[in-house]
This record gives sequence, C-alpha cells and structure tokens, in this order.
Amino acid sequence: MGWETVIGLEVHTELSTNTKIFCGCEISFGAPPNTCVCPSCTGMPGALPKLNKMVVEYAMRVGLALNCTIERNNRFDRKSYFYPDLPNAYQITQLYAPICTNGHLDIEVGGTTKRIGIRQIHMEEDAGKLVHDSSVGGTLVDYNRCGVPLLEIVTNPDFSNASEAVAFLEKLREILLFLEVSDCRMEQGSMRADVNVSVRKEGEPLGVRAEMKNLNSFKAITRAIEYESARHIQVLENGGALVQETRRWDDDKGASFSMRSKENAQDYRYFPDPDLLPVNISEEWLESVRSSLPELASHKRERYIETFGLSEYESSILTSHRNIAALFEAIASNSSQPVESAHLVSGEIMRLMNNTATPPDDLAVDAEKMSTLVGLVANGRINRKTFKDAIELVFTDDSIDPEKYIEDNKLLMDSSDDAVNTIVDAVLSENPDAVKDYNDGKSKAFGFLMGQVMRQLAGKGNPDLVRKALTNALDS
Ligand code: ADP
Ligand code: MG
Ligand code: ZN
Repeated sequence: MGWETVIGLEVHTELSTNTKIFCGCEISFGAPPNTCVCPSCTGMPGALPKLNKMVVEYAMRVGLALNCTIERNNRFDRKSYFYPDLPNAYQITQLYAPICTNGHLDIEVGGTTKRIGIRQIHMEEDAGKLVHDSSVGGTLVDYNRCGVPLLEIVTNPDFSNASEAVAFLEKLREILLFLEVSDCRMEQGSMRADVNVSVRKEGEPLGVRAEMKNLNSFKAITRAIEYESARHIQVLENGGALVQETRRWDDDKGASFSMRSKENAQDYRYFPDPDLLPVNISEEWLESVRSSLPELASHKRERYIETFGLSEYESSILTSHRNIAALFEAIASNSSQPVESAHLVSGEIMRLMNNTATPPDDLAVDAEKMSTLVGLVANGRINRKTFKDAIELVFTDDSIDPEKYIEDNKLLMDSSDDAVNTIVDAVLSENPDAVKDYNDGKSKAFGFLMGQVMRQLAGKGNPDLVRKALTNALDS
C-alpha cells in the first residue's frame, strides 16, 4: 500500500595480506589460539602500530574497481569502546578521511541495470574472538584475529529490495576475488554485511532505520530484509513509532530482536590516531596500482565473447572463478585453440572437478599437458574418446605424460600419421640443400623444413608431431 523499502549496506571484508595491518604478525585462519600475536596487536603498553603498505594497496585496488576517488591524503582515527576482544579498548579505523570515496557499482536485476552508490571505503583493524567454552565454565579470548586488516565498504541507501542487495553482494564478491584481495568466505566470516533497513511512503524522506550486524549468508540477508521491512510497515500502519536501533538477526528463529538504541559517532569519541602518520599516496604509486589492476570477471566475459566468439553462458562458466579463467586462458594461449579450450574447461574439466569434489581454490591442472591434448584433438590426431580419457588421466594424476600415454597405447590416428610422414618424405627429397645444411649443423634449416611441411598440411598439422616426424626422418 504505497510502502517502499530502503536498504543500505556496510560490507566488511578481511584482506588476505600475509601479515596484519599494524604489525608483522602472520595471518593464519585456524591457527591455535593466541599464536599469531605480538605486543602491538595485543595492546601492550609502549607498543606502536606500523602501517602495512599492502593494505593500502589492496584498498586502492578495490576503490579503483568500484569507481571511487582515491583520497591521496587519508588518515586513521581511533574509535574508543571497551570489549574483551579489543585489548587496546579502541579500534583503529578511518572516519574523517577515508581512503576511497564517492564510487559506484552497476548491478543487473530482472533485466535492468541499477547504479548503486558507494559512499566510502575505509581501512580498519579487526578485533579478536570470544570463545564460549562450557568445559572451562566461561569465556576465553583468542587474539589471533586482532589486527587482521578489514575494508569496510559503505553504500548509499540505494537498494529497494533483497534481490538487489544480494545481486550487489554477489558482484562485489566476484570483484574482490578477482582482485585477489580477499577470499570472501562468508561462512568463515571473512566477508560479512551490516544491513540497514527502513521504509517510507513513496516520495517521502528516508524513514527511521534499523541496523542488523554481521550477517554472513545471502539467505540470512534476504530473510532479515524481508522480515524487518514487514515489521516496520506493521508498526507504522498501527500508528506506532520506530526508534533508530541495532537489532540482532536470529536466523534460526527467523526474527530480529532489539539489542541497543543506535549509538552515534560522538559516543565513540573518534579522534585522529596520534601514533600513525597520515597516509600520503603519490601519483606514481596510484598509477602503478592502476596499471597492474587484475582483469575483472565482467571484462573477461566481454573479451571472451568478442575475441573468441564464445557464448555468454560459456563465458560465465569460465569466469565463475579466477582459477578457472586462468586455466582456460593458459590452455587457449598454449594451444592457440580458444574454442576447443573453452569447451574443454567449461565441460570436461568442470565435470571432473564436480565428480572429485575439487573446489576451484584447489584447482591444480597442468595447463601445458592439457593444451597438448587440445592440439591433438583439434588437429584430428586423436579422436574424442582418446581425448576425454587422456584429459581424465592428466586431471587425476599429474605425473602422466599424455603424449607417451597416447604413443604407448597406439592411440594416434594412423591415417593422419601416414599423411604427415608422406609429406615429410616429399619435403626432404624436394629440398636436398636444406637437408645438407641441417646435417652440417645449421639449425635454421630445420625451421625452414618444418615450415614447408606445415604449409603442405594446410594448417592442420600438429607442430609437435611434425617436429617429431621430421626429426625422425632427418636423423634416421
Ligand atoms: P552509521 O555509520 O552511523 O552506521 P551511516 O549514515 O554512515 O550510519 O549509514 C550507514 C549505512 O546505513 C549506509 O549504508 C547507509 O546507506 C545506510 N542508511 C542510512 N540511512 C538509512 C535509511 N534511512 N534507511 C536505510 N539505510 C540507511
Ligand atoms: Mg554502521
Ligand atoms: Zn602482532
């Protein structure tokens, strides 16, 4: 009845740098409690923070990919509050002068494109973890996560429903993964979102919002948005009033519960951190990050469609993970057979990964061996069945030499084998001078003879096989 839902997101993502943001401690998920700590990240008196340059670089990457202004002078602030997992009793973050501002990301929902504004991106440190342990009858604290770098990405209140919010988070996740800045494992908490929801009548100013923190699945986010917007509408329709507050989403109960009225910036006594210098980013540094920005999935998809003539569907499978795209690109460029390589990766390899429950993160396939096989099948030297069998062998056992396997099992197609040998013989008898040069040790002559054979094979020759046939004939 004329109600409109308004949503804004604050996304936290843990950066996958080797070390923490303000000290040299290693970051290692799942390490034994309190083994990745030092005086600095546990707030010992006199220990000082020292900024990790890679964190700034990762933040620049994300800002550039999200069309932000990179603030060449930015700085850190202290956000003071007490919590047992925060040994300094303040978090170092950026409030007054964040590193990235004023960006946007376009999302596709229901066939239309919508632009979501990015208000800012800032760098901050994560806190530790409380472990509630009934065996010791209390709560333990693990400081390993203290000082793990986080980026907080804050959107404008531009979403109108849960599907838009999820589409945004999926696209953002893909970008962060392809930028190689975070592993974005929502189930491990390395990507999590605070969801702000309000409702209003069309054309009216923004309504009072509720914030639900640390949601870590798309499903929970969707349910929380739908529940909360229905709750707001109900309160208002019944003549009630809403308060700005932080609510806890309970995914098991499918409901949200009030935690506390929303604190504001004054409550945290934010002030510039006196232990850290402002961050000054030089033009050269920014340019070097810009020019080495990894290619994003959306750009890869366009490129595959345009330059290789692949379908949109196949391109999206190939870009479903950075390792899959990298494998496809390596096989395609080694074999010079992009279409055959695309079919191989999006078909057989995906099937094998599925059957062996291999996550893309663990994908380790010998691209060179795969491209040899692609070359053989594309040139009609082996049939589809041999191809499929050999692919599976190489996939499951990387010590296998596919060419040897094919030779040992006499799987090369005879007819074309004969054809190559016949042409090699003919070329050798037509070019006695080159043969003499080769025998005299002039290596150029080999290339010339190779070229002659390849030309007569009218582009269908497999260079590896021709090289072999030619070497055999010359050396016999
Ligand atoms: P704070 O930093 O105190 O949490 P901000 O004003 O920075 O508050 O906003 C935080 C998030 O809340 C942003 O993503 C913003 O888009 C969103 N937001 C702000 N006002 C509203 C509103 N009325 N309804 C929904 N989302 C909102
Ligand atoms: Mg907030
Ligand atoms: Zn440390």
